Amino acid sequence: MHIVRHPLASATPGTTHELVSLHYGTPGQGPKVTIQGSLHADEVPGMLVAHHLRNHLDALEAAGRLTGEVVLVPMANPLGVGQWVLRGFQGRFELHSGENFNRHFTDLTGAVLDRVMDRLGADAAENVCLVRGALREAVAALVATSPLESLRKTLLGLAIDADVVLDLHCDGEALLHLYTTPQTWPGDGQLLARCVGAELALLAERSGGEPFDEACSMLWPQLAERLGPAKPLPPACMAATIELRGEADVRHDLAAADAQGIVDFLIQRGVVAPEGGILPALPPLKREATPLAGSIPVVAPTGGMVVFLQVPGTAVVAGQPLVDLIDPLTGQVTTLGAPVDGLFFARDLRRFAVAGMSLGKVAGREATRAGALLSA
Ligand SMILES: [Zn+2]
Repeated sequence: MHIVRHPLASATPGTTHELVSLHYGTPGQGPKVTIQGSLHADEVPGMLVAHHLRNHLDALEAAGRLTGEVVLVPMANPLGVGQWVLRGFQGRFELHSGENFNRHFTDLTGAVLDRVMDRLGADAAENVCLVRGALREAVAALVATSPLESLRKTLLGLAIDADVVLDLHCDGEALLHLYTTPQTWPGDGQLLARCVGAELALLAERSGGEPFDEACSMLWPQLAERLGPAKPLPPACMAATIELRGEADVRHDLAAADAQGIVDFLIQRGVVAPEGGILPALPPLKREATPLAGSIPVVAPTGGMVVFLQVPGTAVVAGQPLVDLIDPLTGQVTTLGAPVDGLFFARDLRRFAVAGMSLGKVAGREATRAGALLSA
C-alpha cells in the first residue's frame, strides 16, 4: 500500500488542507475500485467502515490476494471535519458557500466527447479504454480555485476511471440501504446489495444536483446514447452510495460486518482472490429494488415536538400513523400517516421540527415523484 497526500487549494494565506488516499494493488492490473468514507463529514459510520476495511486490505495485500486495484479514501472530507459551530458538527454543507459537499460534481460527458469522439469505433472494450483516458485528462483540466472545488476535483480524479465506486454515507436513523442506477443494478449493483446485506436499493438515472456517485456512473450511459450503436459503450462504472444506517450507528460490530460485506463484494467482483480459489456462496437479495422516485418524504406541515410511532424497518400502508407532531403551546397533536404503501426505512434524528422539514421516508414501489429527488 502506498499513501498519497493531495494538497487542496487554499482559501486564505496560512491555511492548508489535504486529502489522503491509500492505494492497494497495481494500477492497470485487474478492476479498479474506489471507496471513500464520509464525504458528508459528520456521517461517521463511513469513516469507521473504511478503518476496518483498511485492516482487511493490508492483510489481503500481504497475503498476495489482491488481483485488482483498490483506492481507499478513509476520510473524504478534510474540510468538513473541521466545521464545528457552537459545539455542533456541520459536515453536510460547506459553511462558506452553503453548498452540499455531495453536489455539483462536474458532468464530464461533453468534455469526453470533445476529446475522443473521432477515435471511438466498433470495439466496446477499446472504447472503454479511450473514454477512461479522456476522463482522466478532463478531470486534470478542471479549474479548481476554492478548497471545495479542489476537493471535488481531487475526489473525482481518484474515482473517475474506476470500474466500481463506493461512497459511504449514512442517514439520520435508518436501515442499511443504497442508491445506484438502473443501468448497473442487474449486475454489480445487485451483487453489492447482496454482499453488504442491503435492506433496500433505490434506483435513479438522474436524481438531480450532480452527486458524486452519478458523476462517475451516469456519464457512461449518457455517452452511449450520444454515440449510438455504431460506437458501443457499456455502462463501465457502477457507482453506489451506501447509507450505513444512522448517524449514531458507529459500532465496531456493525462496521466490521459492513467491511466484510465489501470485501465479499471485492472477491465476487474479481478484485480479491477467493480463499482456496473457490467463490463463496452469495447471500440472497433481501428486497427487490424500488425507484428513488417512489421514496416519499413525510413532511412536517408545522413546527413542533416529534414523537415517532414506528421504527425504521416497518412495512406500512398508506395512512398508517408514523409520527405525532405536537405544538407545545396549544397542545394540538397532528398525526402524520405514511404517504404511501411501502417500507418506512429512514427517519430524522432530531426530535423537534420546523415547518417543511422531512421527518422520514417511505419507499413505495411506484415512481411518483419528479424533479430533484435528493434532500438538500
Ligand atoms: Zn451523506
